Amino acid sequence: MAEGVRTGMRKIIHIDMDCFYAAIEERDDPSLRGKPVAVGGRSRRSVLTTANYEARKFGCRSAMPVFKALELCPQLELRPVRFAVYRGESARIRAIFGRFTEMIEPLSLDEAYLDVSHLKSGGAAVAREIRAQILEETGLTASAGISCNKLVAKIASDWEKPNGQKEVAAAEVGEFMAGLAVGKIWGVGGKMREKLAAMGVVTCADLQKVERAELARRFGKKGVELWSLCRGIDERPVTNQRTRKSLSSEKTFQEDVKVLPALVPVMRAMLEGLGEDLAGKHADRVVRSLVVKLKFSDFRQTTAERAWHVPEPQVFEELLAEAWRRGDNRAVRLLGVGVRFAEPEAGGQLEFFD
Ligand SMILES: [Mg+2]
Repeated sequence: MAEGVRTGMRKIIHIDMDCFYAAIEERDDPSLRGKPVAVGGRSRRSVLTTANYEARKFGCRSAMPVFKALELCPQLELRPVRFAVYRGESARIRAIFGRFTEMIEPLSLDEAYLDVSHLKSGGAAVAREIRAQILEETGLTASAGISCNKLVAKIASDWEKPNGQKEVAAAEVGEFMAGLAVGKIWGVGGKMREKLAAMGVVTCADLQKVERAELARRFGKKGVELWSLCRGIDERPVTNQRTRKSLSSEKTFQEDVKVLPALVPVMRAMLEGLGEDLAGKHADRVVRSLVVKLKFSDFRQTTAERAWHVPEPQVFEELLAEAWRRGDNRAVRLLGVGVRFAEPEAGGQLEFFD
């Protein structure tokens, strides 16, 4: 019997490497085995990018300030970030994905959606084979979630971590979702969780009981989307397009800012958000340059840019000072910070971080 596309049912796999950066450090330095290991910078403002399972037993988590992690776990083996190596491993893993499908959507260096609907084998068998090839060729373990859409596949990949996989068959999706907290739904953050909790909605089962019209009335388009997502209905395609050329954020001040030092802490806060996005959904991209934009009280604007491949606060501060000088002491009404990306196809080969 033919399988797959005939029924219109998709087979989506979400692959997520286990503690990717820390696992690479352990692999490359066997003396680290069995010890709490984390990857992160040494400076006062640094945060952990990854902690292995030993370190997590002490409460160490990614995005935690390094000084806090060292308080919780003084014997923590803290290793510097080696992006060039991680990118290289990520490219090898992506090449393995490419043996199975062209429909690959990377979410970061260590995570991707694959659409394998065209293959005869079941999604779980394909995932098992991919994980086996990754382990054999890189010495690293991966976990996988398998289902009929991206939402459920991503949630499921967390289920049997590390080095495991979980399949949620289409017929089980409704029940699987019902047992989850609403925060597991893609796009449901703190604010939305609060609003839902105020309605007595904590789990997806609670949310499934709310009428679609009611959700639409309260939350508009987002509400209609929630009605579908809490039932595990998600039609988003796996898309391998990566057209974004830059990433930035802007802040318009309620009152114009008259002195340079007042801009610095605002910029630092903006950089934290930018850094999270760069480490998260855009981690597979190579940064080409850093940009600071100022718009002055007379609406004149200027952009200071420097070719640089790491979003370092120090460099942004130099760019801010440069842009400020061009304003001849005019007050600032808008501050923007961002990065420009190198062309995607260059991403796999160029190594800027040695
Ligand atoms: Mg991961």
